[in-house]
Amino acid sequence: MSDRVVVFESALRCPVCGVVKVETMPTDACWYFYDCSGCGVVLKPKPGDCCVFCSYGTVPCPPVQLDGKAADCCAPSCANSTQSGS
Ligand SMILES: [Zn+2]
Repeated sequence: MSDRVVVFESALRCPVCGVVKVETMPTDACWYFYDCSGCGVVLKPKPGDCCVFCSYGTVPCPPVQLDGKAADCCAPSCANSTQSGS
């Protein structure tokens, strides 16, 4: 695991209507809410996921790509629940 190639495009698939749309992810944050362009539903991450890209995208958000689920991303609950202490 030496090369860290981060993918910034993720295809979000709406679980309601099935529309897939490729979105470009921000580098240092992720999206907690996403408005589906197909049916207009507001998607939120599944439990345990920090953002909609991790739940519905083909690629998880950049912080998670680099550091896994313990990434210090935009969701406070994510950081709090993954602290193991060391
Ligand atoms: Zn939809």
